[in-house]
Amino acid sequence: MGDGEGGIKAHKQNNIRQVLNLIREHETAAVAELAPKSRLSKTTVKKMIDLLVCLGLVQSAGKGLSTDEGGKKPELFRFNPAYGYVISIHVTPEAILAAASDLSWGLSQFRKTPVGLKRDLESILALLAGEIRRILGAKASGREKLLGVVVALPGLADSSRGISIYSPHYHDWGRNVPFLDLLRERVEELAAVPLFVDCVNRYQAFAERVKGVAVGVKNFMIIDAITVGLGAGIFLHGELMRGHQSLSGEIGHMTVNPVDGPRCNCGNHGCFEAMVSANRLRALADDARMNGEQSLLFQNGKMEDFDIARVCELSGQGDKLCRRLIDDVARWFAVGLGNIILTNDPELIVIQGQYVKAGECFLKHVREGLRRIGLPDVEKTVRIEFSALGEERGVIGGAAVVISDFFAKRLSFKEKE
Ligand SMILES: [Zn+2]
Repeated sequence: MGDGEGGIKAHKQNNIRQVLNLIREHETAAVAELAPKSRLSKTTVKKMIDLLVCLGLVQSAGKGLSTDEGGKKPELFRFNPAYGYVISIHVTPEAILAAASDLSWGLSQFRKTPVGLKRDLESILALLAGEIRRILGAKASGREKLLGVVVALPGLADSSRGISIYSPHYHDWGRNVPFLDLLRERVEELAAVPLFVDCVNRYQAFAERVKGVAVGVKNFMIIDAITVGLGAGIFLHGELMRGHQSLSGEIGHMTVNPVDGPRCNCGNHGCFEAMVSANRLRALADDARMNGEQSLLFQNGKMEDFDIARVCELSGQGDKLCRRLIDDVARWFAVGLGNIILTNDPELIVIQGQYVKAGECFLKHVREGLRRIGLPDVEKTVRIEFSALGEERGVIGGAAVVISDFFAKRLSFKEKE
């Protein structure tokens, strides 16, 4: 029975893992329902559930309804999301978002701390260390149930080496910063805890996969447009794309208008993110104002606070300038998305970030634009949808990666003594 280390043989490990995963997929489950799905006998499944209950991974969930034949009411079981937890942190250009996540991506102790003016690496690491200690301190189990700490970074990051390659929002961090090593040095409680880092857009794609509109979708991508940047997280055949040098998803710097596009933060001209940025729309609106054009965007000849949602709202009210701005940005969105569709052929594109506020009329414009771009004779059945997740999506996605790593690679089963 043992494998020489008093453990359980590999094929049985896999069977237990399969039963556990089936239970995780259901709210509650009974042995009679798990046996055919796992192709194991009821007796075997029951033994495995007993072990999982003993280990604390599965809990009894009372009795179900009796069967049509009037048999006994079956005992129900459910996954225990409090078996462990993850500390998940998202560093945005303006703030640190940190929370604890249970194993079903339920967040607690969520807090958003503005970064302020101290943006150097040492100050940010100190903020992160403070958040990690805060969450550890609030957990009665402390480190005992901590399965990992994950940090989602803006800019380029290499998850396999644990480094921040470059962050356009934190210039003075420099290049190829060994972020995870530096964090571990500063928080001694993390000495033996698995740490994870990646570009936030990749984690945000994971969030849609576990808790958003891409559940069960194998080929999809998310596009996140924040006020200062745009990036993507791409899943192909159920696998997250990272690429040769962790550049996969850096679509914000795809050149879409090299002829007269504005200069981008990266130094090039006509990048996708520059063409659809709120900054560019604001500049177009300003030009119109200087030329004497009337719009509800202008009060007493001055432009009030400019944001995408307002432009969309006024466009809906028939404001001519706002209508033109939305047409313009939807057109460039269609150009960018057309290129991505032809290279990755996704089934679904999920739009996150500031354009979610733009509403259905914006999506309609983008879809119309897409029909005219790239292989016009090919029917493009790709769905384009807005994300329903809020600012916590990076934190949820980061936790999802740690949880999936734990169940797929680290969890192994031992018979209870
Ligand atoms: Zn650029």
